[in-house]
Amino acid sequence: MPRASGRTVQGHVARKRFGQNFLADSRYVARIADAVSPRPGETVVEIGPGLGALTAELVVRAGRLVAVEIDRDLAARLRERFPPDALTLVEGDALAFDFAALGKDLRVVGNLPYNISSPLLFHLAAQAHALRDLTVMLQKEVVARMTAAPATPDYGRLTVMLQATFAVERLFTVPPGAFRPAPKVDSAVARLVPLRAAAPAIADPARFAAIVAAAFAQRRKTLRNALAKLVAPAAFAAAAIDPQRRGETLSVAEFVALSKAAASDR
Ligand code: SAM
Repeated sequence: MPRASGRTVQGHVARKRFGQNFLADSRYVARIADAVSPRPGETVVEIGPGLGALTAELVVRAGRLVAVEIDRDLAARLRERFPPDALTLVEGDALAFDFAALGKDLRVVGNLPYNISSPLLFHLAAQAHALRDLTVMLQKEVVARMTAAPATPDYGRLTVMLQATFAVERLFTVPPGAFRPAPKVDSAVARLVPLRAAAPAIADPARFAAIVAAAFAQRRKTLRNALAKLVAPAAFAAAAIDPQRRGETLSVAEFVALSKAAASDR
């Protein structure tokens, strides 16, 4: 376990604005690395390597790694610790990083900064064609939303947008005590695998995203009201969806059908 006092971990003052809670329990580090089980020759990309706990385990298994870290001080430490043939370190913002430029079949992994988890997942979903899988640690509640079923309180925009692109599976939970500093929330590790050929064909992703966002913006509204500006009455009929329903009752496939009908209606 790294030495820690307050927010100082191994001599580094953890930065809240970068969501820095470092994994300090080696059992969970090993469980995440085992969940990925990378093999030499695979392109493994870690988001937010931090102090390198998971990085070291992944390097042992994969031989080499690409990592994207925004914190300049941590990037400098990582460069000192890992030789360049083991770690290609990109100092920058994962939200702006072009993962697909690294190739195809990428194995992306990270204990994600929780303050940007949703935008980061959307950014990765947009590059799903380049991923083999994505293994991420997130706030437990976010993983509950990612894996939720229709008509449950956790089902929402994040659920539909991610499940339209990935098969999402919760692997295990991680308690606050496994981190330094300890976060206030429980965490969970999830695996996302692109659906690829099995993914629903979405002709107009921007329209789909707008319909999903509007359907959940006010959960109590009927679809007729929530989508008045986006979906004409005839499109509801064409998709065989009752406009009196609420968005939270629609399956992912029904959202896809509705956006398709709305597109051909124009
Ligand atoms: N992987 C380490 C671990 O498990 O101990 C650190 C995890 S910590 C929750 C999140 C890491 O992501 C930090 O190292 C933080 O500096 C980095 N980070 C935060 N925002 C980032 C961004 N936009 N792009 C890349 N890295 C980021």
